[in-house]
Amino acid sequence: MTWSLEIHHIDLAGSGDSTLIVARDDGVGGGHAAQIRTVLIDGGRVGHATRIDAYLTAAVPEFAAGTDDLDVMVVTHYDVDHMGGVRALLARRNTQLYDNVLIFDQGEPANADEDPYLLYVQAIARGAGRTRATRNVASDPAPVRKQRAAQWLFAGPVPGVRTPPVMFGTGGPVPLGGNAAIAPPPALVAPGGAVIAPFNLANWWHPYWLVGREILWTDTAGEPLNSPTPGAPPPTVTCIAANRFVRNGAATATYRSGGLLTPPEQAKNEKSLAFEVRFGNFRYYIGGDIESMQEQNVSAYLNPPDSVAQRVHIVKASHHGANTATSRAFVDRMRPEVVMISCGTRNQYSHPADRTVGILEGYAGATPAPPAPAPPGRAVPSYLTGYQVPGTLLVPPQSRGGPTSHTAGRPAPLVRGNLRVDVSQVQADRDARGLWAVTLAETIIATANATGIAVPAPLVPNAIHRLVATGPRAALVTTVITGVLGGLGAAGAAAPAVAAGIAVATLAGGMAAVIPAVYAAATGAGAAAAPAAVAAAAGGLACDLALAAAAMAPALAQTATQAAAILAGVAGGPAAAAGAAANAAVVAAAPPGGRFTVTFYDRNAMGGPGQRVITHH
Ligand SMILES: [Zn+2]
Repeated sequence: MTWSLEIHHIDLAGSGDSTLIVARDDGVGGGHAAQIRTVLIDGGRVGHATRIDAYLTAAVPEFAAGTDDLDVMVVTHYDVDHMGGVRALLARRNTQLYDNVLIFDQGEPANADEDPYLLYVQAIARGAGRTRATRNVASDPAPVRKQRAAQWLFAGPVPGVRTPPVMFGTGGPVPLGGNAAIAPPPALVAPGGAVIAPFNLANWWHPYWLVGREILWTDTAGEPLNSPTPGAPPPTVTCIAANRFVRNGAATATYRSGGLLTPPEQAKNEKSLAFEVRFGNFRYYIGGDIESMQEQNVSAYLNPPDSVAQRVHIVKASHHGANTATSRAFVDRMRPEVVMISCGTRNQYSHPADRTVGILEGYAGATPAPPAPAPPGRAVPSYLTGYQVPGTLLVPPQSRGGPTSHTAGRPAPLVRGNLRVDVSQVQADRDARGLWAVTLAETIIATANATGIAVPAPLVPNAIHRLVATGPRAALVTTVITGVLGGLGAAGAAAPAVAAGIAVATLAGGMAAVIPAVYAAATGAGAAAAPAAVAAAAGGLACDLALAAAAMAPALAQTATQAAAILAGVAGGPAAAAGAAANAAVVAAAPPGGRFTVTFYDRNAMGGPGQRVITHH
């Protein structure tokens, strides 16, 4: 009865998006059988269905053996590069894999007579065992009201208006919400602060009906299943945004609109469904093609205190890495360890955008990553299912990965690949903050011990929680030095110490220069030797951590601690021992196996051993 989580980003040629999430319980020792629960989020274009079907069969042994089938399908929005493949899979012959799926989407849109949507609804109706849980959700209030009014007038389908049969097939009143545990938001706030009253339409559900609901462990009415298993809680997939309503907290959602694209494309993307995947301390975010306006609320909901303790470890970049999402502020608040970008090689939209690549490389915004100088923020590794090699196809547009992006074949030659994330129960139980924050905490403690200082209890948590894993380097140095000196009773020395630290960090770069400069400034401003040394080490470490690879963290902790101990007057031998102890503490806090692994599979070899495996701490 040990759970595990797999998240597969399926490589689709050209432009399209498809993600498979698998929750497994091995059943060992729990007195029950092994179980598996699966959800496919989006299916690329119509032409991608064959590839996706082959991938599902290769990646999930139970599918190949015919002992299980797909549980849940999600269409985040009705663009053809997300919905088309789902429609084609539902219409697929010679397979039972999709015969009993529970389907979630935006509900009935205003443009419900568009051909792709009609074909999608008809494909669902081909299987009697399928349930579209969102069939009564009103995705667009005004046009649906219009259609309902027409229905009442004509007492049935309106002549000449093509309307999905499902709209008229349900009959009877449909209760709003109907889930006491996760009630629909009681009040909705429109732009400008106006409160939106619930629809006065008994047969339709709110556009935010899905927000707050868990979709992996759900019955055909969209209500929570009974406890899926005894023992440890399983991975969950919870909707946090739908039809421009973004979850606020446990019980409310806020309407957000006004993006970069123009209607109707804007409307489609902004209304994307977004989900939080949770497994123990591990968190993952996926949101279709949702835009920056909604992402502001998403990040505020997922990380209310803006702390590293509530970071989201993996963010799947919205809209294939386009510049309509993934802002600097969003990345800073989510603080991901890695970002996944689903974009096909030779895509005609030049995904990912230069702006997105620049942000993930540690820059403020639109600037693509230049070779020098170093960016002010830490780069977030990005994983691409594929990208267009600049200058090889369409000129313009061009697309690319940045220096810290990975593809299956990186560094060269470029090989397209499926990206699989694995999280074991042991990994899910590990510290949510990750090696960066743990390094900082352990090093401050070790350094303080080495200089003979007792660390006040709030000091280390405060420093950690302010850690800006992906934000500006100067902010990280500032908050750490200020926190340490304040916590050790030398707040008066903070300003000059911070100024010295940032000046030296900017000019000379690394820890070796920052530590003596901060120490000199702090002692010059009246701080005692020991607190000044601890603050100097923490500032120097923060400076280097902001730019270094995570694997360097233990060595950095060792260097910082030893240097500070010597500055504080500790003899060389004991100082070296303190440094070694800091190294060991950080290693112990980040055991082998890390928090999750990312495996690349060549797009044409989907099963078997991965082409490349990277462990993240
Ligand atoms: Zn898309």
